[in-house]
Parts: sequence; structure tokens; C-alpha cells
Amino acid sequence: MIEKAEAIVLKRKEFRETSLILTLFTREWGKINALAKGVRIPTSRWGSNFSLFSHNLIVFYPRKGLSLVTEAELLEDFSEKLAFFSRHLFANYLTQLVDLIMPLEDKNESIFQLLLKTLFLLEKGKEPERLMRIFEIKLLQLSGFSPRIDTCLQCQQKISRFAYFSHTQGGLLCKLCLPSPEYASPLQPGTVSTLRYIINSSGEEIFSRLRMNRVVKDELRCLLAKFLSYHLETLPGSFRLIAKL
Ligand SMILES: [Zn+2]
Repeated sequence: MIEKAEAIVLKRKEFRETSLILTLFTREWGKINALAKGVRIPTSRWGSNFSLFSHNLIVFYPRKGLSLVTEAELLEDFSEKLAFFSRHLFANYLTQLVDLIMPLEDKNESIFQLLLKTLFLLEKGKEPERLMRIFEIKLLQLSGFSPRIDTCLQCQQKISRFAYFSHTQGGLLCKLCLPSPEYASPLQPGTVSTLRYIINSSGEEIFSRLRMNRVVKDELRCLLAKFLSYHLETLPGSFRLIAKL
């Protein structure tokens, strides 16, 4: 049966003379792989050329393995406005991370919204580093890997100031429960409260209100890189390129 969906392009690969093989993250179906036949013919009547990160309305036949897209309407082309190299790299990181974390056909409308919103803010010129950290934490939370941050994982005592983050256990430890200094990353109180604020907020105010100083940004980047690579067994290639900027 023919279906409609809103789709963000995570990956695109030229196929034969005129077609594309796409990995799309859709609002209605989650991640799908799809074939768009004839979309690269210059005179074709397709309403989108599926540039990377673009937001489209598609008509498609769902198939196991490779769905068949037959029509598309472009809703937003982020790629053009992200033309600055570094912005492109950040957008790449977002889409690669969603591609790595989400299995096929696992619908998750909150993650779709998060990706769309973050691409939109990136294109509007918002500070990328802050957006990346918020995105990573919300993505982990919405995909079921939420870090546990209310109490110490070991003794269950409330942690109000300095804490240690264990990426293997996925949460905070207090100083008394830390087995050895190398076991977990130390966090300043500001980083602990930023983590808590992001996890406990569901609205868009996180993007507008939250400020992070240099220490918080550095500690979050470090702990999220370790936590993500522990769960995913790898990090998107763009992570290392961003670190070199
Ligand atoms: Zn403890």
C-alpha cells in the first residue's frame, strides 16, 4: 500500500545512471532505506533532489529492505544554508548519530522533532557546540540510554556538588563510591546541574535559555564521547573532524 511520510535525508548514494539510494529518518516510520528511481534526470518532475539533511514530504511503497519512493516535495533544504564547512560538519554529525543509534523502522517522533529542530537552529547560526551537547543528551534519553543523574548509582545518596560520571554504568557516582580515579570522569557542580536540566526539560526552552561555560562544555564533550562510544562501539567519523576545528 502506498504511504506518505515526512523524511529527513540521513544518507544519499548515487545508484546507476539516474537514481539514488537513500537512508531517511521519517516521522511516521522511523529510519528506512529507500530507492528513488530517475530522481537525477535533470528534466524529471521530482519536487526534491534529496540533498543531505533536507526535510521532505515523500510518497512511497514500504518494502522490506528497500522501499520505493515515487514522489517528493521539498519542505526545507538545510544543506544550502549550511554551506559553511563547519556547519555542514555539525549537521553531518547529527544525522550520522541518528543513523547509528536508531534501528530500521523504529518509529520515534520525539527524535524526529529533535533532529529537525536542531538542524533548524544550526542553520539559523546558533552556537553549534552547545547544540551538539543538548542534542546528544536528548538523543540518548529518547532512545532509552538516559544517563542516571539523580543519586549515586552505588549508595543511592543524593549528589549535590562534585560527582563522577561512569560511562560503563551510565550514571553518577559520589566520591566515596569511586573505585579509582581512572574509573570515571570528574564533573564540576555546574556540569551536573546542566545534565539534570537538559534531562528534566522536555520543551524548547533548553535551546533558548540554557547557557554553558567552557568547563561545562569540555566536561560534557568528554563524558558524552565516552558514553556514546561505549554504547555504539564507535563514534561518527565527523566527531574527530569537529574536534580538530
Ligand atoms: Zn555513593
